[in-house]
Amino acid sequence: MPQSTMPAFPTAVAGSLPKPAWLAETQKLWPQWKSQGDELRQAKADATLLWIKAQEDAGLDIVGDGEQARQHFVHGFLEQVEGIDFENKVKMGIRNNRYNAMVPQVVAPLRLRGRVHAFEAQLARAHTKKKLKFTLPGPMTIVDTVADSFYGDRVKMAFAFAELLNQEALALQADGVDIIQFDEPAFNVYMAEAADWGVRALERAARGLACTTAVHICYGYGIQANVDWKQTLGDEWRQYEAVFPALARSSIQQVSLECFHSHVPPDLMRLLDGKDVMVGVIDVASDVVETPEQVADTIGTALQFVARERLIPCTNCGLAPMSREVALAKLDALAKGAALARQRYGA
Ligand code: ZN
Repeated sequence: MPQSTMPAFPTAVAGSLPKPAWLAETQKLWPQWKSQGDELRQAKADATLLWIKAQEDAGLDIVGDGEQARQHFVHGFLEQVEGIDFENKVKMGIRNNRYNAMVPQVVAPLRLRGRVHAFEAQLARAHTKKKLKFTLPGPMTIVDTVADSFYGDRVKMAFAFAELLNQEALALQADGVDIIQFDEPAFNVYMAEAADWGVRALERAARGLACTTAVHICYGYGIQANVDWKQTLGDEWRQYEAVFPALARSSIQQVSLECFHSHVPPDLMRLLDGKDVMVGVIDVASDVVETPEQVADTIGTALQFVARERLIPCTNCGLAPMSREVALAKLDALAKGAALARQRYGA
């Protein structure tokens, strides 16, 4: 990313932001929309602009659409994919059975019906001069969130999705998006497969992109199933250790990881030498708002392992299930903490 136009420690959110109560049900991961048709389209547009303004007002350096136009970070993409049966959803244990979800089934060769995110990407681009980041689900995470009744092979199906993601990513780049980020929480669940074919599928999805490419790998939203899961992971979360070396060798330029309030040993960031590192300095599993001092402290810790010009303070994950008030306060803390870090660490 051209850092010359950026301050030190440029700030960004991982991706999603809470949906306003007039757009969808609040504090839910799979919220029902509050309207339909043109009215819904307008409400999505209004919410997108609201969050761009809120991110700018907070002082973030990289902004996004807050995923206001999609119901869920995976299924928002799938809605434009042909070959998926949404009518007959099946119950499936996802993320290695951490939770059950009703998921659609792949029943035929996959093909894009057309553009997926043109509306919100072009709208966002037209209304901000800041660096614009746009998120897509990664191939491995998609494969882990649909049932396969056609391909019979996870890797084959992942590469089929990767081709479709690549089509949309290239179109988003043409829309003027500066950073395309693929979300791969599944990398923290299937570590060996992630290092083996997950990263390769990701590179397929990013093929030919000249804009900045990123991957977000987290321990999930701050929902109870994830809080319970994290309690089984022990005192040291070393999942990143398996996949970071493969990512370091890959063409993906930025990696987003959890840090604050996690049990991830911060020295694992060393494994990402040569990459921009989006360091999670905001906990999305707690409504307690970080102080700027706490944010600056986390940046200070990360600075022991990440080059200053490669450090991007970020949230641990998306903020979708949080209250709007808390999310706004956390954006503010993120920007103020980065400002404090610039003073403290002489950037
Ligand atoms: Zn996440």
